[in-house]
Amino acid sequence: MNELLITIHDVTPPNAARVEALWQLCRSRGVVPGLLVVPDWHGEAAMESDAAFGDWVRGRASDGAEIFLHGERHDEVGLPRSFGDELRAFGKTNKEGEFLTLDYDAARARIDRGIARLRAMGLEPVGFVPPAWLAKPATHAAVRDAGLSVSEDDGAVYVRGRVVQSPVVRWSGRGAVRAYGSVLFERLRWWSQRGERVMRIALHPGDLGHPATAASVERGLDAWLSARRQTFYRALS
Ligand SMILES: [Zn+2]
Repeated sequence: MNELLITIHDVTPPNAARVEALWQLCRSRGVVPGLLVVPDWHGEAAMESDAAFGDWVRGRASDGAEIFLHGERHDEVGLPRSFGDELRAFGKTNKEGEFLTLDYDAARARIDRGIARLRAMGLEPVGFVPPAWLAKPATHAAVRDAGLSVSEDDGAVYVRGRVVQSPVVRWSGRGAVRAYGSVLFERLRWWSQRGERVMRIALHPGDLGHPATAASVERGLDAWLSARRQTFYRALS
């Protein structure tokens, strides 16, 4: 049976209630999603400052959730884009591509700091996912050198030096046009990519904020899980 990776992005104290809602949606279907944790969301929400949040994430990790580092602050504040960066990011994010512009040293420094902060909280990350899946190849090299076995972009998962092609289904609740567009894209992926060996579903806190995406997330989870079994990044080969 083909496989499905499921994650919840943007796990951070300000998103705690919506992350919990997505977690319950997954658990009600027997799924244990991976959690993409941001240590200091927009430079304003240090994860260590919220004890209940730390307890929650540790609890989910002991339920079997894989933990990922997902940037340091997630946004691009203080990181001007070059023209090439603008082209690569066009239409993909509202300035939430923290790693888009970073070279190796800058990426490595943020990854090292993030890993240390997760470990200090008792969390062991299996991998790193750049915000908005935007990063130069140097970031993926920095992830490997930092000792994490998994990174990914929006086309593939990189596991211990191997490339696993894997389309990603995601929604956007940011405005009606994007919401209905993402509902349509989910259906297009269902019809065009059912034969892919490994698919990913990436859930975001905003997905339940628009009625169209909220309904599509539930319908989509049911549909994809009827045809695939959940797998974990640690099990990819
Ligand atoms: Zn994100």
